[in-house]
Amino acid sequence: MQWAEELVRWRRELHQIPELAFAERDTQAYLMAELGRLGIDFRPVAGTGLVAEVYGASAGPLVAVRADMDALPLDEQSDEPFASCNPGRMHACGHDGHMAIALGLAARLVHERTFSGTVRFLFQPAEEAPPGGALAMIREGALDGVASILGLHLWSTDPLGVVGIRPGPIMANADQFRIRIVGQGGHGSAPHETRDAVLVAAETVVNLQTIVSRRLSPLEPAVVTCGTLHAGQVFNVIAGTAEITGTVRTLTESTREAVEAAMRQIVEGTAAMHGARAEVTYERGYPALVNHSEVVTRWRQAIGDFAPVVECPPKMTGEDFSYYLQHRPGAYLFVGAQPAAQAFPHHSPQFRLNEAALPIGVEVLYRGVMAEMAAFHPGLA
Ligand SMILES: [Zn+2]
Ligand SMILES: [Zn+2]
Repeated sequence: MQWAEELVRWRRELHQIPELAFAERDTQAYLMAELGRLGIDFRPVAGTGLVAEVYGASAGPLVAVRADMDALPLDEQSDEPFASCNPGRMHACGHDGHMAIALGLAARLVHERTFSGTVRFLFQPAEEAPPGGALAMIREGALDGVASILGLHLWSTDPLGVVGIRPGPIMANADQFRIRIVGQGGHGSAPHETRDAVLVAAETVVNLQTIVSRRLSPLEPAVVTCGTLHAGQVFNVIAGTAEITGTVRTLTESTREAVEAAMRQIVEGTAAMHGARAEVTYERGYPALVNHSEVVTRWRQAIGDFAPVVECPPKMTGEDFSYYLQHRPGAYLFVGAQPAAQAFPHHSPQFRLNEAALPIGVEVLYRGVMAEMAAFHPGLA
């Protein structure tokens, strides 16, 4: 693939200028300069995002490809020679690679121009920070006229070049909760005069684990994670209040509703048992990313024997690409990008990508885009 060196350059240059959600100004400027150099039309959207278009040799369907742009609030510890130049900011999820792949695909399409139709690139800000950038992109017309949309995520712990895809849910509903427990504080020597919020909080954390183990079908995936628990300030004082925060991951709307209902019942019941009160604030985050099966079938066929394709299990992470698929047919897949040395998970300060996955990502997307063009071309309908 003749763009391999360019892919690495783009990825490394973007890697050095990581920016947080909706603050991707240097990233946007970099992309505008590179798109301009390639002679590609673009317009800013959603503040720091971009929509760019490559036109084929003749008219035809409009197929979209999305690349996310934002980084994470981390100090990079990857030891890469092209590590972040922005302290406290790091491309630790591979979105630098996604932008490089999109540029590589755009460059290739400009070079070939053999297709009939238009490929629209959605450079999207703020994937990492709900409510995310996808909704703003959609509001500002990024999906107007789009027949279908494709996306991918490089994955540092999947074997290099292995493509993971599945019809239906491939990523989870990613929700947040906050539990406020109100008891009655008092002297550590006189528990009978108090309603101990530490005890209620401890039991609440334990009881919440019965949602997955006892309320849901064993065949239905779900996660209930309590990420923080804060209560009390002094060793010999009984705490009057406590707060728990956490996340819930589910794959279907019915399970999502069942978990929320069970959570309210368990939290309120546990507090009542001890004469305390508790309330749950449950905030829905990104909806599950649900692949359209006919697009998945076409894309798998188009990849053919270029790369090994596996029907992967869903990941319980969240992704705002899901919003695009609520409006248009489309699909999302994973491309394995495991480094030759040790692999670190996404969002780790030691995260690394195997750059050999970049040209694979371009080819996989190229094949998907061409398959969608053919599927939506009026002459072939
Ligand atoms: Zn991420
Ligand atoms: Zn990501």
